[in-house]
Amino acid sequence: MDSSKSKDSTNSGLQETNSDINDEEKNDLCPGFKDADAFVKYGLGAVLSATKASAGLPQTGDEYDFYRSFPGFQEFCESQGDKLLHCMSQIMQHHGCRSRMRDRNKLTGLEERFDLVVDSNDVILERVGILLDEADGVNRNQQPVMPAEFQPPKIVVSSWNRMGSSSGSRSETFRLLQAKNIARPQMKFKEKVDNSNTPFIPKIFIKPNAVKPLPSCKLLLTLMFFPSVRPEDLDVPAALADFIHQQRTQEHVEDMFAHPYQYELDHLTIQESVLSKPEPQMYKPLTETKCSFIDTLDDLVALNEKLCKLSEFAVDLEHHSYRSFLGLTCLIQISSREEDFIIDAIELRSELYILNEAFTDPAIVKVFHGADSDIEWLQRDFGLYVVNLFDTHQASRALNLARHSLDQLLKHFCNVNSEKRYQLADWRIRPLPDEMVQYARMDTHYLLYIYDCVRVQLLDFNHGQPGLLQSVWNKSKDISLKKYTKPIFTEESYLELQRKQKRSFNTQQLTAFRLLFAWRDKLARQEDESTGFTLPTHMMNKISEELPKEPQGIIACCNPVPPLVRQQVNELHLLVQQAREMPLLKELETQNDHESLSVAQMKARRIIECFENPFRMESAKGGGKKRERVASEVGESTPKPSKKQMKSAEKPQKTEPPPKDSFKPFDYSQSDLKVFAGTKSKDNTQFDPNRQAQGFKKKKTARGQKSNSGAGNRSMSYMAGKSDRGFRHNWPKR
Ligand code: AMP
Ligand code: MN
Ligand code: ZN
Repeated sequence: MDSSKSKDSTNSGLQETNSDINDEEKNDLCPGFKDADAFVKYGLGAVLSATKASAGLPQTGDEYDFYRSFPGFQEFCESQGDKLLHCMSQIMQHHGCRSRMRDRNKLTGLEERFDLVVDSNDVILERVGILLDEADGVNRNQQPVMPAEFQPPKIVVSSWNRMGSSSGSRSETFRLLQAKNIARPQMKFKEKVDNSNTPFIPKIFIKPNAVKPLPSCKLLLTLMFFPSVRPEDLDVPAALADFIHQQRTQEHVEDMFAHPYQYELDHLTIQESVLSKPEPQMYKPLTETKCSFIDTLDDLVALNEKLCKLSEFAVDLEHHSYRSFLGLTCLIQISSREEDFIIDAIELRSELYILNEAFTDPAIVKVFHGADSDIEWLQRDFGLYVVNLFDTHQASRALNLARHSLDQLLKHFCNVNSEKRYQLADWRIRPLPDEMVQYARMDTHYLLYIYDCVRVQLLDFNHGQPGLLQSVWNKSKDISLKKYTKPIFTEESYLELQRKQKRSFNTQQLTAFRLLFAWRDKLARQEDESTGFTLPTHMMNKISEELPKEPQGIIACCNPVPPLVRQQVNELHLLVQQAREMPLLKELETQNDHESLSVAQMKARRIIECFENPFRMESAKGGGKKRERVASEVGESTPKPSKKQMKSAEKPQKTEPPPKDSFKPFDYSQSDLKVFAGTKSKDNTQFDPNRQAQGFKKKKTARGQKSNSGAGNRSMSYMAGKSDRGFRHNWPKR
């Protein structure tokens, strides 16, 4: 796009309108116009005549060159070009985009300018989408979750959305909804986050209320100092490495990954007192309840002492997952019958383990609502465990209540209307706005009263027999026995995600998907970002489907472009190129077929693909046909198994590689083929590397309405969108 080529007599008109803004009395919506309609009419008219005028310009080539030889034409082009660029610059600045359009410097040449236009279009269209949805009433409740009095920083700087260098009041007039200037709490962590692709090792090194002590002291030291490295990789004297190795290879390895309170929980007996019918103790009104914000060690120690004297307290957590690989706990709310406490879990992250004294005391009941995730987060971030848990969500299920969310229980038992307005708020914000503190506090304030009420109902429901109540205690215990597992990347991880999506990819597309998936995982770990922030799955699909030939094409698949994608677009382009070099086979999996395949079977397919004849013609049709023909040839000697047979374990032929004329495949008849059997049974004892990768699986969460995400379980980009108008709904509003 040559700037001097497109001229437009109306752009000066637009400019005038722009400068009029300051002089004329301010019409809120469209300064200088009667109403929005008048403005739109004017705008459309201007666009129309601009289009006509540009079509009337001399064509590139001889015609243009001829005109260009007249100085008058040259001057005209230059001045109009400048005006046009200035106008574009202003529009971009208005939207907070980089806008050095008028810079005629050769260094920031055409390409750079073109990039700027593309970027700005992205941002503007994104805003249009948001506004249209807003007008539609879609997602109205999901607007940026910030309390009214809290003013988010107006200037947003991020690599994909950098502000122009121009300063002044103009920059205050825009605001982007997705990004906020919140310092990364990870920077302050005393202990670095361990995103390595190794299994999680419990963080506990002091075990209060132990019946069975932690593994030996020596081992503890090893674990503390070298939690996730192999001894041979350590820069330590050989003798020490040997010692560590010895420790690891002995029976301790199992202990190392075990639940530290497994023994205590297995031997936990439910106290008589909590099985008998209680007299519900009414909660104190919020206004008469002291609420303390705990963000110093002294206060935390004092809180722990207070808690140790109680017979029960309620707990809840607030969590952030978008700008961190593993996620991070931001707040812990605790309520006794008398007081509420909000702990700054970011500030006190490395001190919080001291609460284990109260949290693992079997004489103290800890009441949570929907503790599944909480239990894992406590382990992951603080090495905290819970012994003697009561989960009101489990109680609600046992009582067969209509819905099991906390809102519902609050309404049902306390007649309190709570709005889960801040559930998706950015809980990293500090200082925490009062409105958010109040919201967080509601999550535990009423919980002990609800605990009383549900126990009464559980006993009444069962004619005074403790069976049902007992079952809730047991279910709660099972939840406290949950172990946090880190998302583990394996060569097959991408297949898990691919299988869930039920998409058909050809070999090239699937290769791209595999490479992008690995790139995303690696970079997300390295940068400590969620996979959804790094490259949302829907964009990964788009790139895989389109296999863009140019880096620019990759950018075009993403809207808005994630900063890390922009940063590494050349690396991504190389990956896509690599995928394009694969021999092209027709669609790999049809939907039904796909669902019946185990991970091992998929792997087998991938291996089969590797056996493809490298000299085969590389065309979609040719490749597909050839493969089909070969498959039917196989069918002649080995009768094609019926669908039913294919699923049965006795017919493993299905996954035998279709032999090529020139290629004699490995004789699988000698091998143990059980692994390829189409069994989906859960108790399959075959080793499945993806079993470990719990984090990649859809997590079952307690809240009825909670929809936790798929791969990585952290990516906010998996949040179900309510409108399918466009891209925006897959990109988190932050
Ligand atoms: P809650 O137990 O409702 O206070 O939720 C605890 C944390 O879980 C919140 O701080 C969020 O990070 C996360 N969370 C809760 N509900 C949702 C949801 N519907 N979607 C995604 N994350 C959620
Ligand atoms: Mn919760
Ligand atoms: Zn909560």
